[in-house]
Amino acid sequence: ILKINGLEKTYKSGSKQLTVLHDISFEVEKGQTFSIVGPSGSGKTTLLGLCAGLDEPNAGSVDLCGYTLNTLNEDERAQLRNQEVGFIFQNFQLLPTLTALENVSVPLELQGAKDAATRAKELLEKVGLGDRVQHYPSQLSGGEQQRVALARAFSNRPSILFADEPTGNLDEETGEKVIQLLLDLNKDAGTTLVIITHDLDLAARTQQILTLKGGQILTNETTATS
Ligand code: ATP
Repeated sequence: ILKINGLEKTYKSGSKQLTVLHDISFEVEKGQTFSIVGPSGSGKTTLLGLCAGLDEPNAGSVDLCGYTLNTLNEDERAQLRNQEVGFIFQNFQLLPTLTALENVSVPLELQGAKDAATRAKELLEKVGLGDRVQHYPSQLSGGEQQRVALARAFSNRPSILFADEPTGNLDEETGEKVIQLLLDLNKDAGTTLVIITHDLDLAARTQQILTLKGGQILTNETTATS
């Protein structure tokens, strides 16, 4: 479902160039759970953005859900993301002026869903927030906000879900709930998961672990979970 070949990414700052990813190649199978680990600054977030077509590499190619991303224009890439891809960011990225329900329903409406509010409510119930739908993000705990973000990420029934440190800001118990929701989604709906994490216990619960260091692949190992 995801095939990365010879990916390279260089950032420019002033006259300086910084290559943060060198010759990255790997594959994620449909339905797989896959984690990306590595020290801070090793290029994990940059790599995830390239995999999801949010950013463009300086060299190499990304095949996602049967499309080679650099052959698509911006609109086509956005359409592919709307149809096939879900995202979860470390800092939730909920809209503060919208309720929990609206944070999930508005993107669905923008994609033309007719039953957006009903579906958003169902999704929030699924993540255990049925009694919080009218709350604003500021009235929710970090774990609750992350679960709203999960409901929003699930809403377009993605084939592949990219999550950047989904448990990074959460205590152990809340983090475990979020992990369980992600793993259930993989089991029940067959959604492919690609997760950046610092948590090696979480990584060990996925089927494959890619370790980055200094923008290069250190190891790409199958775990006992697979
Ligand atoms: P962390 O675990 O701390 O989130 P990471 O492994 O996700 O780190 P990235 O965020 O991908 O690492 O960053 C990799 C390198 O690229 C870092 O040295 C960072 O400073 C640099 N970098 C990231 N984004 C930009 C940008 N937009 N412009 C310039 N440099 C950038």
